[in-house]
Amino acid sequence: METEIIRIGRAGLDREEFTEAEEKALLRAGEIIRVGGLVAFPTETVYGLGGDALNPGSSRRIYAAKGRPSDNPLIIHIDRFEDIYRIAGQVPEAAVRLAEAFWPGPLTMILPKAPEVPPETTGGLETVAVRLPSHPVARRLIRYGGGYVAAPSANLSGRPSPTVARYVIEDMQGRVEAIVDGGEVGIGLESTIVDLTVNPPQILRPGYVTEKKLAAVLGQVAVDPAVIAPGGEAPRAPGMKYRHYAPRGELVIVEGEPGKVAAYVNSRAAEERAAGHRTGAIATKEMHGQYGTDVVKYIGNREDEETIARNLFAVLREFDDEEVVKIYSESFSSEGLGQAIMNRLLKAAGHHVVRV
Ligand code: AMP
Ligand code: MG
Repeated sequence: METEIIRIGRAGLDREEFTEAEEKALLRAGEIIRVGGLVAFPTETVYGLGGDALNPGSSRRIYAAKGRPSDNPLIIHIDRFEDIYRIAGQVPEAAVRLAEAFWPGPLTMILPKAPEVPPETTGGLETVAVRLPSHPVARRLIRYGGGYVAAPSANLSGRPSPTVARYVIEDMQGRVEAIVDGGEVGIGLESTIVDLTVNPPQILRPGYVTEKKLAAVLGQVAVDPAVIAPGGEAPRAPGMKYRHYAPRGELVIVEGEPGKVAAYVNSRAAEERAAGHRTGAIATKEMHGQYGTDVVKYIGNREDEETIARNLFAVLREFDDEEVVKIYSESFSSEGLGQAIMNRLLKAAGHHVVRV
């Protein structure tokens, strides 16, 4: 299949001033979705792989394009709050309050599903995941695509979610009708998922909208224990049980006081080098100069965790070009945005943590 690449310029991304050619291309992309095709596009979290959520054939194609197990449900993206009533069987008052506080934005709500949503889209579940994103390109495409766009992250299953179009092209070229290139995304981690079908509401996947921010609106909020803990109970978001984000080298998280972390990484790196192996480190600005691994990748600044969230997936992908056998990463606090960062990093490392 020939994949069309649609590029959106800065004015469209910053001020929603789309050129006539861009507007036409987005209308064409919307039409592709309406007739059952697939279009990858930027959102404020990561790039999504979009298809018509109310068309079972489109959902089947999404699973096939990603190589994703079909019991892993898709999030339905909408463009107007009132559209939620067609896909949710019930919209509790808490959902309205969350929407007022965080939509448009990086929050997904789990609600009872309406009959109109095909089981293919919800992986056979009786609940549905809904989000109203803020990215101007995503919003237009949802509108032009019929109003209900299922869009999981636009990566091959198991790989890090794409934060730039280059990685979408790498994974999806030839598998989808079009890819909209809208530059680098802003947040870099997938949406927070909160389940409103249980009491108290429960966070199934941490994200940019933190536990604290949700608690301020909901009063009480629980966290699925599987979010941070390895093994144990099965996570309640089916997708969270799969190995995710894995780079090709073996990733190890090293936890401890900064000087000790660097000393540990450097001694292991020396051993690996003696055995003829290349190694890498994932380093914050604060520690960047201290590692003697063959490759050192900058992930961001501890004082501004948003930089770490934005760079994490790209750094994991970049290591695939480095032929390193071991990658050592610093660890982050599990508070605030750190909860989402550590959740993704732990999955990428298969929960391999060394304490020094
Ligand atoms: P992705 O679209 O790649 O960000 O993945 C979507 C995530 O949402 C996966 O982890 C799914 O398991 C989760 N999800 C989608 N729908 C539901 C649902 N109805 N109940 C629980 N989790 C869901
Ligand atoms: Mg994903």
